[in-house]
Amino acid sequence: MKIHEHEAKDILKEYGVPIQDGFVVDQESDIESAIDKVSQEFNCSQFVVKAQIHAGGRGKGGGVKFSSDKAKAIANAKSILGMTLVTHQTAKEGQLVRKIYITEAIDIAKEYYVAITLDRAKSKNVFMVSTEGGVEIEEVAETNPEKIIKVWVDPNLGFQQSQARYLAFSLGFTGNQLKQAVKLFSALYKAYEGTDASIAEINPLVLTDQDNLIALDAKFNFDSNALGRQKDVLALRDVHEEDPTEVEASKFNLNYIKLDGNVGCMVNGAGLAMATMDIIKLKGGEPANFLDVGGGANVETVKNGFKIILSDPSVKAVLINIFGGIVRCDRVANGIIQAVSELDLNVPVVVRLAGTNAVEAKKLLENSGVSILSAETLEEAAVKVVGAAT
Ligand code: GDP
Ligand code: MN
Repeated sequence: MKIHEHEAKDILKEYGVPIQDGFVVDQESDIESAIDKVSQEFNCSQFVVKAQIHAGGRGKGGGVKFSSDKAKAIANAKSILGMTLVTHQTAKEGQLVRKIYITEAIDIAKEYYVAITLDRAKSKNVFMVSTEGGVEIEEVAETNPEKIIKVWVDPNLGFQQSQARYLAFSLGFTGNQLKQAVKLFSALYKAYEGTDASIAEINPLVLTDQDNLIALDAKFNFDSNALGRQKDVLALRDVHEEDPTEVEASKFNLNYIKLDGNVGCMVNGAGLAMATMDIIKLKGGEPANFLDVGGGANVETVKNGFKIILSDPSVKAVLINIFGGIVRCDRVANGIIQAVSELDLNVPVVVRLAGTNAVEAKKLLENSGVSILSAETLEEAAVKVVGAAT
């Protein structure tokens, strides 16, 4: 799960990381008073207006504007609030800006990159820093990987003071800067662990002209499996920023992932989903999505899942590939029959059901009169659905 920059900064603040601070506005009539508040609270006369969307690269896309006085801040705020912002991380249609963050402007001496995430290959959290802050870190990783300094955190020992010092030294900090950096890195690690984050990133962390280290931007992603014990984090979920179909699917406890192709896939289990997508690609097709109905699928969930898949206009054919283990194939068949009879079906549907009650399921489908293409093996199903989609 993702959150907005201002929310990420609130978390940082709570854990003692100094931030570029401000106020959030979601309607034009509040802009001027928010600027006045920023000016008073943070004792500044220059401002930055920042679009709040769940995507990075806002600066390059025109969603972050420095404003040298109040009048310019008002104009920038008016133009950014309500704009459709396109960045390299948004969908190509862009993302509507529903909220802006008006902050104090900071005098930047130098920008750094700081982040923590889980290194799955090492089964440890990795703490990364770089002197190449502000720009896209993916580019640095590609062209100058040696400029990203990493330490791995032993889960039994936790993040060590010595590691924080090593990272701070590697950025060239000494004296007072070093002291600030060590404190800041330790606080960031506590925030990452304390919120069950999967990514905590500050890009850029800046050294100001006054020799202070401040988080100018902040990004947190969270492990969705931990949201049950992170009520404060869960409360920050902003469904406007998520794919509407994925949100709809999550209401029915279905895992739906939108992809770029034209074959809709209904499967049970993530492993079968991967195998199904692999074989679709092997046969020359491209999945439009996959929807995992899970182990406990009933008629309702299958029906809802089917509707969700069909709501995507790029879907030109659907493959239902279910292995009946805990979920019985006859229930799946009933779900398909109900969904098809309730919906105006205008794309071919290929069904392959194997496992528990597959024979009964086949009979149900045959006798229902619904128009589907049935397949015995996964390969046959893939060939049929790819053919039908093109
Ligand atoms: P992003 O583009 O979505 O990563 O948004 P950021 O919050 O990182 O802002 C983008 C860039 O705007 C930063 O890298 C800075 O160069 C610039 N910027 C943001 N806030 C300030 C500020 O207070 N002062 C100055 N001088 N530049 C800023
Ligand atoms: Mn940034």
